[in-house]
Amino acid sequence: MEQTTEKTGIIYCRVSSTEQVEGTSLGMQERYCREYAEREGIKVLECFVEEGESAKTANRTQFQKALAFCAQKKQYVDFFIVHKIDRFARNQGDHAVTQEFLRRSGTRLRSVTEQIDESPVGRAMEGMLSVFAEFDNNVRSTRSKSGMEERVRAGIWTWAAPIGYKRLVQGGNLVTDDDTAPYIRLAFDEWAKGTHSFKSLADFLYERGFRTRSGTRAYPQLIEKMVRNPLYCGIIRAFGTEVKGAFVPLIEEELFLRCQPSVRRRFGTGERVTNNPDFPLRRFAVCPDCDKSLTGSFSTGRKHVRYPYYHHQKQGCSRAAFHSKENLEQTFVEYLGKVSPKHKKYEKVFKAVVMDVWQSNYKKLDAENARVRKEIEVLEGERQRVFDLHRAKTYSDQEFMDQKDYINRQVQQKKLLLEEKRIEELNMEDALNYCFDFVRDSGKTWTELEKMPAYRARFQKLIFPQKTTFDGKKFGTKKMSLVYELNEAVGADSSKLVTPRGIEPRFTP
Ligand SMILES: [Zn+2]
Repeated sequence: MEQTTEKTGIIYCRVSSTEQVEGTSLGMQERYCREYAEREGIKVLECFVEEGESAKTANRTQFQKALAFCAQKKQYVDFFIVHKIDRFARNQGDHAVTQEFLRRSGTRLRSVTEQIDESPVGRAMEGMLSVFAEFDNNVRSTRSKSGMEERVRAGIWTWAAPIGYKRLVQGGNLVTDDDTAPYIRLAFDEWAKGTHSFKSLADFLYERGFRTRSGTRAYPQLIEKMVRNPLYCGIIRAFGTEVKGAFVPLIEEELFLRCQPSVRRRFGTGERVTNNPDFPLRRFAVCPDCDKSLTGSFSTGRKHVRYPYYHHQKQGCSRAAFHSKENLEQTFVEYLGKVSPKHKKYEKVFKAVVMDVWQSNYKKLDAENARVRKEIEVLEGERQRVFDLHRAKTYSDQEFMDQKDYINRQVQQKKLLLEEKRIEELNMEDALNYCFDFVRDSGKTWTELEKMPAYRARFQKLIFPQKTTFDGKKFGTKKMSLVYELNEAVGADSSKLVTPRGIEPRFTP
């Protein structure tokens, strides 16, 4: 496939029963979608058209194919284009969860005729799911979290092995993958020269034989992920902290640091890159007048005791003042208390929607997994036959090799598909409760995250996706994250949670 950095997308068309009346036939749908793609500068890779019986049944074969296409070409398909949302999903459940599925493939949904993220529940759902994504690693199972954390502290990488590494036994630590590890080393060496773009480095590696697990060329996004991954120099970053991995690093820490955007940051001296554990609100809150962010430092008082305080960067501003760390952070905790979702009703409604969505989708995924497993079984039967035919001399050696390789590749591909889906099989109820525990008492959560500065920073960002101000007395923001914003809406008027545009939730509040 052509390696490119331009925007890419696929088109999905499906006809509904009232279609002929409205005059949007499949052909027109496709044309509108193609025109849209052209306007937006999106290169159409493939067009999936649901025709005849499959459009009416629940299977929607082309739809499944389209999703699988995005998943297989992970991070490569930018947009999933439909004419109308109802082409994509027949209920809100499909919509939110399939969108999340696409998100994991790095693909975004686009509708030719609608602005997708506008509906309150749709948006809230995305807000909700992004909460999950934020805490992804722990969310998958709250119960196994502490066990996982323990293993990480022991230097064991407990997630999927990145390219360059493999895992020999389930639950074991990473082992160097001799086939791909030299390329990782090469990638860092080249990147450190400072002359490559991610794309040119991808090309460079491809020419030298570097292939991804699925045997394809690495996309620039993967290269970027690679050179930003501290795991390769033996550092595990998880649960808000850094741990030295108990596996063989592929490169030296020094080389890794040379490959990072700002080498001169404090990283490497034992401190964390992005978060200052002493001053979590530093660079976070800005002055509403001069727009400068607060900074933090220690003053050494008499008897050489060090006092932590926050201060204003701009001396001339009328709001410029010094605030003790303790006071300012206390004010912030109180502010968080004020904005936390308090309405039981909101929580119940929200959980009902998400659970409903989840259950219907989970069933679908389950059925699909079973189907893929069945297909693998069939392929394995075929492989056996190829061996038999070779033994019986019906196949020449060459034919045998070709056939065998072909089947092996197919099995490999299907197995990858299964792996993708396993990610989806999380315990939604646990995840929801876990998520709500975090937001219900945000002040407390924030305080408790003191020892996990990375999570603390993410938590702050999650609640306040945009600018947070501090005017010298109190905090404020123009825009809060959806989970919090919707809370306000429900508090004022619960009817606001009702969705427009035919994707009504199937519950009665
Ligand atoms: Zn100011």
